[in-house]
Amino acid sequence: MHWSELKEWLARGHEVGAHSLTHIPLTYCSDQRLCQELLESKNILEDKLGIEILHFAYPFGIFNRRIETLIREQNIYYTVATTRRGTNSPKSCTYRLYRIQVHPGFRPQDVALRMRAAERFGWVWRLRSAGKYAPARPTHLFDEIPQEVISDYSA
Ligand SMILES: [Zn+2]
Repeated sequence: MHWSELKEWLARGHEVGAHSLTHIPLTYCSDQRLCQELLESKNILEDKLGIEILHFAYPFGIFNRRIETLIREQNIYYTVATTRRGTNSPKSCTYRLYRIQVHPGFRPQDVALRMRAAERFGWVWRLRSAGKYAPARPTHLFDEIPQEVISDYSA
């Protein structure tokens, strides 16, 4: 992606966030390297785009308390996304946000399906993660979605 494309995204109302300098799993980093990964990526984006970068996504979704604490205490980013699937509420921890994965080639209806699934079943995934009971399969989700979307989605 080119800088001009990022600027176009911004002009259309999208957010741009940082994702580290070298995409290293941050848990491998010394404190010094961790600061470099977090701050230099932010600074480059801010210099090139002329905006404040408030958001970050952990490379590979990997983080620990040391990383989260540094970001929070140093006030480096306002929000941080994990790779945990689901949606967020006002009560969500802003340094451990859930997200919906979207890939190149997804059509708008694919994105809509994912968003709907994450809204409805993000909590199921969280219960499973917490070792609590959750229904085995969210079949009723598919009742509301046009059949062609489901078949494309599952192909
Ligand atoms: Zn990544």
